[in-house]
This record gives sequence, structure tokens and C-alpha cells, in this order.
Amino acid sequence: MKTLIFATNNQHKVVEMNLALKGKFNIKSLKEAGIDIDIPEPFNTLEENATTKSKTIYELTNADCFSEDTGLEVMELNGEPGVKSARYAGEHAAFSDNIDKLLAKMENITNRTAQFKTIISLILEGKEYQFEGICKGAILNDRKGTDGFGYDPVFVPEGSDKAFAEMTMEEKNEYSHRRKAADKLVAFLSTQ
Ligand code: IMP
Repeated sequence: MKTLIFATNNQHKVVEMNLALKGKFNIKSLKEAGIDIDIPEPFNTLEENATTKSKTIYELTNADCFSEDTGLEVMELNGEPGVKSARYAGEHAAFSDNIDKLLAKMENITNRTAQFKTIISLILEGKEYQFEGICKGAILNDRKGTDGFGYDPVFVPEGSDKAFAEMTMEEKNEYSHRRKAADKLVAFLSTQ
């Protein structure tokens, strides 16, 4: 089975990605690959940040690897928090601070339409390929549920009445932006 290093320190993402790849590929997290590095995300697009993360790991290891960068885009906020989703309320903001800021900004907004967008950057034999996954939905007025991470307690995907944080990992995976991008990654890898 092909092994790919996943350029992330986020254990939630590793578990979700393992589920999305359906056991077809073996993923090594940075920790499992013995790499202790916090890769900066300095750019204004998900695409550039994803590329930086995968290229950094490729230069360190010379091994096939992939990264992903995800943002939550709220239509009435012109796509905010977007690429700044992790740092919305400040450089080292906790998930709860970011949600507090988002809910405060949306207090008087009735159109709650939003989407998660994931960009996966794969480096295979030194060449880069990108895959996109989008999950459309809406932002709640208040938190619901305790599972997941990030903005999961305030995001309800289209086609469900549950927040991501109220879902099992398998349920979230049915709707998830990350899974949709991972499906494209799997389809591509299957042709190689
Ligand atoms: P990153 O830059 O790709 O690590 O992700 C940016 C931020 O987006 C994370 O810190 C989370 O707050 C948020 N995020 C990414 N994926 C998800 C998700 O699946 N659910 C909820 N929030 C997410």
C-alpha cells in the first residue's frame, strides 16, 4: 500500500483523512514521520499555503506527501474568515475565540450562508497536483454539539439539520469538504 506523509500537526485532520481515504493509502502524520515542525501559512490564498506546506515536507524528506489548507467562507462577510480561519481572533486564537468573533460579527446578519473550502496539495515524485473540496451550509446563531474541531459547533451543512459538532466522524464525512477533496485525491492516485 502506498504511503504518503500528511503535512499536518492537527490530529483531527489525520483521523478524518484516514477515514476519507478508506484504507486505500497509508498516511503518516508529521509526528509519525518524526518531523517536528510548525509550517507557517503566510499567504492570502489556500492554494499557496497548501503548496508551501507540501513543498516544505517534500524538501525535508524527498518522499511523496500531501498537505491541505481549509477555510470557512461566509458570504455576507465577503468570504471571511477564509484563509485566516485559524487566526481570525488573533495569532494564537483558540477555536472558541474564533467562533465568538464570528458570531459577534454575524449578530445582525440574516443570510447565514457559508461554505468550507479545502485545497489538498499532493507532491508525487516531485510534481505538485491540487484538489478542491467544498461543503456548502450555514452558520448557526449559537453553538450546537461538542464533537469535531474548529467551527464545527456553528456550521450546519446543506441537507442536514445537525451541526458538524453533533455528528459522528462518519456522518461528518458524508458532507465534508475534506472528504470531497480526498475523494479526488484517491481517484487521481488510483490512475497512477
Ligand atoms: P488550516 O489552516 O487548514 O489548519 O485550518 C484553518 C482553520 O479552519 C482551523 O483552525 C479550523 O478553525 C478551521 N477548520 C478547518 N477544517 C475544519 C473543519 O472540518 N471543521 C471546522 N473547522 C475547520
